[in-house]
Amino acid sequence: KAKDEGRGQWQLYSDELDRQSKHRHSTETDLRRALSKGGELEIHYQPLTAVTSGNVVAFEALVRWNHPERGMVMPDEFIAVAEASGLIVALGELVLARACQDAMLWTRPLRLSINVSPVQFVRGDLVGAIQTALSESGLDPHRLEIEITEGVLINNPTSALDQLSRIQSLGVHIVLDDFGSGFSSLAYLRYFPFDKVKIDKTFIADMIDNGESAAIVESILLLAKNLKITVVAEGVENVDQLDLLRSLGCDQAQGYLISRPMPIANFEKTVFGADI
Ligand code: C2E
Ligand code: MG
Ligand code: MG
Ligand code: MG
Repeated sequence: KAKDEGRGQWQLYSDELDRQSKHRHSTETDLRRALSKGGELEIHYQPLTAVTSGNVVAFEALVRWNHPERGMVMPDEFIAVAEASGLIVALGELVLARACQDAMLWTRPLRLSINVSPVQFVRGDLVGAIQTALSESGLDPHRLEIEITEGVLINNPTSALDQLSRIQSLGVHIVLDDFGSGFSSLAYLRYFPFDKVKIDKTFIADMIDNGESAAIVESILLLAKNLKITVVAEGVENVDQLDLLRSLGCDQAQGYLISRPMPIANFEKTVFGADI
């Protein structure tokens, strides 16, 4: 009897693994098809504002997948599959090309920030893709920012640093995303002259109620100021957070309080008012 129960549980477990593996496989198949056509992938943009003036200074490009059956699929549900299958190279090139074209249509020459995956540093030609996107769109390289996470520097530091330097020498800014969420953030600030760091939203989420988080945010701001690095707070959701960030001297803010990410068709009017 006990043996039967054990087998029953194993069956449930193995069914679940089977289900997950089928889901991953169909996500990969569907994503490959979506990439070859292009139409299902959309880029939404979220504004970053200067904390003191409240003016919009940049937009971050965030990819979404409008799947014919699953509806709007968020990046957390497909970026990992794209990375594991190598499809992230084509996806990354599509986002780079399209976002640079979109930025050329904006009525103000604001900065554009694009996330790149650690896998793009190992497979494909990231430097070449950025150069192509810039030259084909005509976007001024000084308007482009590339967001990376610590993972880039962990796996293949020598090659990653070389590629980052080449990208930076084009005039493109290099941003360290999700700062503080990993394990050795401080060391990375020595390895590479980042132009900007984005404080991970988990610190912003509880900085009002949690003294430790507030102290960490304050210390990151002090450190960044001494290193002459611009700081963005991600995930700003309420006025108390924004007020505290202002009093601590944070440069830029991004979050639902200011605006959710939105399609290009909506944002000029929403962000700049109807006068444009
Ligand atoms: P990320 O680069 O750290 O982007 C910020 C994420 O926080 C976005 O989630 C954004 O919608 C969300 N967010 C913004 N404001 C708030 C807020 O006030 N509260 C909360 N709770 N969340 C907020 P999203 O769009 O789902 O993207 C998730 C992650 O997927 C991104 O994190 C980034 O790592 C990755 N990603 C998105 N687009 C791309 C892409 O084109 N290429 C690559 N390689 N990764 C991408
Ligand atoms: Mg980002
Ligand atoms: Mg982030
Ligand atoms: Mg993230």
